[in-house]
Amino acid sequence: MDKVILIKYGELSTKKGNRNFFINTLSNNVYNKLSKYDISIRKDRAHMYIEFKDSEFDSIKKDIDMVFGIHKYNIATIVPNDIDMIKDTVLKMVKEENPHTFKIETKRSNKNFPNDSLEVNNIVGGHVLRNTDGIKVDVHNPDMLVKIEIRDESTYVYSKEYNGAGGYPVGTQPTGMLMLSGGIDSPVAGYLAMKRGVKLECVYFEAIPHTSLDARNKVVELTRKLSAYQGSINLHVVNFTKIQEAIYRSCRNDYCITIMRRMMYRIMERICKTHKGLVIVNGESIGQVASQTLTSMNVINSVTNMPVIRPVACLDKLEIIDIARRIDTYETSILPYEDCCTVFVPKHPVINPRMDTAIDEENKFDYNTMIDEAIDNINTIKVSSKTDEFSDLL
Ligand code: ATP
Ligand code: MG
Repeated sequence: MDKVILIKYGELSTKKGNRNFFINTLSNNVYNKLSKYDISIRKDRAHMYIEFKDSEFDSIKKDIDMVFGIHKYNIATIVPNDIDMIKDTVLKMVKEENPHTFKIETKRSNKNFPNDSLEVNNIVGGHVLRNTDGIKVDVHNPDMLVKIEIRDESTYVYSKEYNGAGGYPVGTQPTGMLMLSGGIDSPVAGYLAMKRGVKLECVYFEAIPHTSLDARNKVVELTRKLSAYQGSINLHVVNFTKIQEAIYRSCRNDYCITIMRRMMYRIMERICKTHKGLVIVNGESIGQVASQTLTSMNVINSVTNMPVIRPVACLDKLEIIDIARRIDTYETSILPYEDCCTVFVPKHPVINPRMDTAIDEENKFDYNTMIDEAIDNINTIKVSSKTDEFSDLL
């Protein structure tokens, strides 16, 4: 008997005006994610059907669970619109599961089918009861709920329902530019932004020779892990060495981080302009370090008018770590390579910086020329979840 993965659009169906755009984006994303399998995809207004080979199911399931916009899905057996075949299919499914109690729920959109929904429930339920031993019907709280959907083309029978990744399909929102460091927080921030449909590009600030190539490779690897949710991701690597050295040569030590982050935001805004990024995304979390107090955020953020999305702003570190573990970025993030922030951390960074002091300090060197130069020398790497395509970079 043929089986299909039956995806219900769920939350997407509430997006009235955008419905087709959402559905088409989702089906393209599913198609791209599953292109390595022998499958075929069909869709209508409420469902998507994926025909697949049984032997590949476990692997397909792992991939489907990385496609945002899918809330629930199930594995349905396709049966011809014939009551005897429906009876046999359901009986076989119930026997395989062997529950104490079951319930049949039928939906019949095919009004030409000779029995109505209640009759189908009774006929099929009766058939199961007569051919099993000790299994009972429980309409309120059954161990096994068997759903029968009788449509024009065929009937779909299923029981198990799986939770999908939720959210909206990646690409239903324009580009967000993620500040991706080698830490734990920013990959989680990127994941959460993608979950809302944001198409991600990443920016990494490096300060070679103060930071190593290993540190960059770690960020490439994190980008690769994130790209599994999107297909491929552009990673813009900014050479930040001159700016960072100038800051540490010219500015008050306790303001170095504040000023460094103001420079990063300025560069982010420029990159957004050239790559159509509509928002900056980062892994800042309120109060986590001196540069993430509300006063610091205010002084740092004031160099740009762009919206800055901070998906983990209100999460505790342990909550962020939980997500990092779940999305498999944690082990990479804790590899011990120095990031440009950690190399230059002053002993006592200012916790409540003043705007006028930050401006006075940063005006001690010609940062505009240095920013222009950094922008001109950006190195963009297209990172894809297919390891072999970029493994030579590592
Ligand atoms: P950790 O998980 O250890 O906190 P982090 O990457 O979050 O690491 P922070 O110093 O907290 O480091 O930086 C706050 C945010 O600023 C990061 O989440 C990231 O979005 C951005 N950021 C910091 N350093 C860099 C960098 N070198 N390149 C790109 N973005 C950076
Ligand atoms: Mg952090």
